[in-house]
Amino acid sequence: MAVWYEVRRGTAVIQIDNPPVNGLSHAVRAALGESLERALDDPQVKAVVLTGTAKTFSGGADIREFNSAAMAASPSLAQLIEATETATKPVVAAINGVCMGGGLELSLGCHYRLATRDAQMALPEVKIGLIPGAGGTQRLPRAVGAELALRMITTGDPIDADTALRHGLVERIVVNDSFDDVLAFCEEIAVRGQRPKLRERVVTLTGDMGALFVAARAELHKTGRGLQAPLACVDAVEAAARLPFDEGLAYERKIFIERVQADESKALRHAFFAERTAAKIPDVPDGTPTRRIDRVAVIGFGTMGGGIAMSFANAGMPVRVLETKPEAFERGMTACRMNWEATAKKGRMTAAEVQQRMALLQPATSMQDLADCDLVIEAVFEDMAVKQSVFKALDAVVKPGAIFATNTSTLDVNQIAAATRRPQDVIGLHFFSPANVMRLLEVVRAEKTGKDALATAMKLARRIRKVAVVSGVCDGFIGNRMLEQYVRQSLFLLDEGASLQQIDAALLKFGMAMGPFTMYDMAGMDIGYAIRQRRYVEKPHITYSKIADKVVELGRLGQKSGKGWYRYEPGDRTPRPDPEIDALIQAHRAEVGITPRTVSDQEIVQRCVFALVNEGAKILEEGIALRASDIDVVYLTGYGFPVAKGGPMFYAEKLVGLSQVIEAMHGFAVNPAVDSRFWQPAPWLLRQAEKTAAK
Ligand code: NAD
Repeated sequence: MAVWYEVRRGTAVIQIDNPPVNGLSHAVRAALGESLERALDDPQVKAVVLTGTAKTFSGGADIREFNSAAMAASPSLAQLIEATETATKPVVAAINGVCMGGGLELSLGCHYRLATRDAQMALPEVKIGLIPGAGGTQRLPRAVGAELALRMITTGDPIDADTALRHGLVERIVVNDSFDDVLAFCEEIAVRGQRPKLRERVVTLTGDMGALFVAARAELHKTGRGLQAPLACVDAVEAAARLPFDEGLAYERKIFIERVQADESKALRHAFFAERTAAKIPDVPDGTPTRRIDRVAVIGFGTMGGGIAMSFANAGMPVRVLETKPEAFERGMTACRMNWEATAKKGRMTAAEVQQRMALLQPATSMQDLADCDLVIEAVFEDMAVKQSVFKALDAVVKPGAIFATNTSTLDVNQIAAATRRPQDVIGLHFFSPANVMRLLEVVRAEKTGKDALATAMKLARRIRKVAVVSGVCDGFIGNRMLEQYVRQSLFLLDEGASLQQIDAALLKFGMAMGPFTMYDMAGMDIGYAIRQRRYVEKPHITYSKIADKVVELGRLGQKSGKGWYRYEPGDRTPRPDPEIDALIQAHRAEVGITPRTVSDQEIVQRCVFALVNEGAKILEEGIALRASDIDVVYLTGYGFPVAKGGPMFYAEKLVGLSQVIEAMHGFAVNPAVDSRFWQPAPWLLRQAEKTAAK
């Protein structure tokens, strides 16, 4: 049953029951339409209430129906809303919790709205590259005024019941667990006999109309990372303010259809589903037993340990921290405090919250203090011997059944696990820097990691609000292994004649959060240097440009040393060009015998991005990543890949086309300045391209 119907005290109560979010699928819309007709035909019924089960009015349209026949099947959401608005008896939306997207649009077609105190109302379509498409952009401004509607529609963020009441979106707040308030309200309005329609209202606004929309667009051009959907939202709200209702509605429909078909929305919807899919592990089904995690410890309170401890404290979980010396512990505490205080200064936290979170960080003085922990995360120096000795010591003192995690970036988790007698309890939890900010968590499944340990880690990730992606064991796991190829190409491009400013600008224009050379300076170049020195010995057949080594050997490590690829003024992170680097690059080109050529921006983007794609395909082939969409999640949440392009694998497959990608790779392979072997398209890409061609 998708919709319940009953008559109570002369009111027809129509309740949506379509778990998990009461999505407005075609079946639900049809049942709602029938229930409404039934109520209008019943002479006993004086008023109608729409509501939902389980603290959810409706989470909105069923996004699985997008671009499918079911989406347009009658009654469409717009038709259902029209039937509600023109109903011959008053219809009340009793908003009993979550009311999002199409759910809110449906409530806007009702004559009255009531909300429980915990209600959350939003039009989040912009987050998947759309605008509300069933009258939301036209009715919401008529309900709450242009300013609030603009904010809600361009950000997609929810408002609570009090805000909704203050702005006239709802008539009253009703008691959560009792339907009496709702039925009493229905009796009142049945007597009054009015059926106020939002379509008949005018849009109010406090300031100047022109200025409001100019300012909204200017702000989005600054902060919107090139996304088109938020701008389309502004257009639609402006239409509500300037045009008669029906013309505005037609305009909304036109933009909605354009947005549904746009690559941006396809990419954002892919990202939305990809994040949810990443939590699914084929041989670890839902319902796999998990271990209880209450007591958590972090070993090492440096850059990463600090951020990891903060992530737990931010989720309200206490963390014990073990360092080598009291001074190191104090340094870590100071770093965390400064970080939270900076957040408080921006008004995003109170001073009391800073204190509460600090109190969650507790010192451990020895391994013994960790004996009763359920989870220990190691974030000590990146050195196999140090890590193995830590794990051996843990094995000796910590209770059976505890999970031991390592935050290593490059070391073999199987080898670390082998230092214990319980490899089934060892896992990699690879956080990204700054760990309290970055959403990505690579969960590294080692050869012997237990399924319950893995399921526990995935569940824990949600608790600390991280997006977990499972990776097998390999050097660099998913993200950094791919990044190495991106870095290599960026350096080859520099050798061949592009300037670092050109490379940074081209990738920034493509949509990356920052250009590669700006990123290297920010991350610090010593780690990459150390990795390359190891590669020269371990994998001598792989060629690297030596230009980055020369920069590091001048003592230029990036922002932390005041200069790297760029130079920095004290206290200022703005990258400035440095003639010393230009001279170094010129000398380097002469030394390796390259006559610089003009490199196009297109070549820069393709070589860097397709390098990610080719390595990503190898990672899939080897089973290191479970699926292509997991790789996209890694790049979208951990590496600043443009969300409007859906991640490297989606971009290659769906926006460029694999046959073009493969052709470009063949083209790069004939360039003597690059590693031609690398540019042989990975077998996974060839197979996938064939499959697409056969369709
Ligand atoms: P860091 O040097 O800032 O911190 C390491 C801390 O561990 C130091 O404070 C040190 O005193 C402490 N320590 C060393 N041995 C210890 C021991 N036996 N017991 C207790 N404490 C000990 O290093 P970091 O950048 O935080 O890196 C830590 C780990 O995280 C490394 O494995 C690194 O590869 C990994 N990692 C780093 C990053 C990054 O961007 N920095 C990103 C992901 C993962």
